[in-house]
Amino acid sequence: MASVDPTLGPLIREAAAQLRRLLEVEAQETPLVPWQRPPAVPIAVTAPEAIPPSHRSAAVPRRPGDPLPLLHPHEAAGLAEDLPSLERQVQQCTRCDLHRSRTHAVFGEGSTDRPRILFVGEGPGQEEDRTGRPFVGPAGQLLDRMILAMGLTRDQCYIANVVKCRPPGNATPLPDQRGACRPYLMRQIEILRPRLIIALGAVAADVLLGRPDAVARLRAKVHRLGGIPLVVTYHPAAMLRNPEYKKPAWEDLKLAMRQWTEPGSRD
Ligand code: SF4
Repeated sequence: MASVDPTLGPLIREAAAQLRRLLEVEAQETPLVPWQRPPAVPIAVTAPEAIPPSHRSAAVPRRPGDPLPLLHPHEAAGLAEDLPSLERQVQQCTRCDLHRSRTHAVFGEGSTDRPRILFVGEGPGQEEDRTGRPFVGPAGQLLDRMILAMGLTRDQCYIANVVKCRPPGNATPLPDQRGACRPYLMRQIEILRPRLIIALGAVAADVLLGRPDAVARLRAKVHRLGGIPLVVTYHPAAMLRNPEYKKPAWEDLKLAMRQWTEPGSRD
């Protein structure tokens, strides 16, 4: 069993203090009590764990600590095995009708070497479609503040979306659009090998966990995707529309931070 890095204690306490300060400013609520380690929570084992070995893709070379393969062979067929090639495939993709109205496909960006956190949102908005970068509008600014409050920088994380092309009018991606784009996201996860995944909103949680459910029912617990801890919380855009979501979201971020101290989560 891996030992816990003793230098993490002060870092965690400082990050928790930053979270607390940010929450007090953001939510303008009464100050929180000092942060305490949350109680142990049950781990929900989800569908991708159940892919039988005979059906797992072996396309991406396996290394110690890799997540389990996340794609069935028929989903993995023809998919690139490295990020630059996969991005080129996405830029040329016509798998669903969203390619017709896109200006840029938004592949994702950030650390490509075992990022501390992979954030997964729903889909590009207008500004993301214009620039080709994820989370650059108001919701992206809030996400940046959330990352800073966790004691990290954006370039220590990776940010992606369920669908890579903007749904017209910022509509919720349809099931066939999500299904068409899902293999790209799963292959990104296989290649990136993130230490932790945070699903932002119900659409991301549905695609990652195969559980079409409300965020309120999926948050505040640790799921797993191919062995990677996964926490569900509210999408920053939803927090901007509903400030009451901010407090539970900070609780989810604290739960996520706790995973870094779990044995085996930082290798
Ligand atoms: S949303 Fe995904 S599947 Fe659809 S065209 Fe864009 S990259 Fe392809």
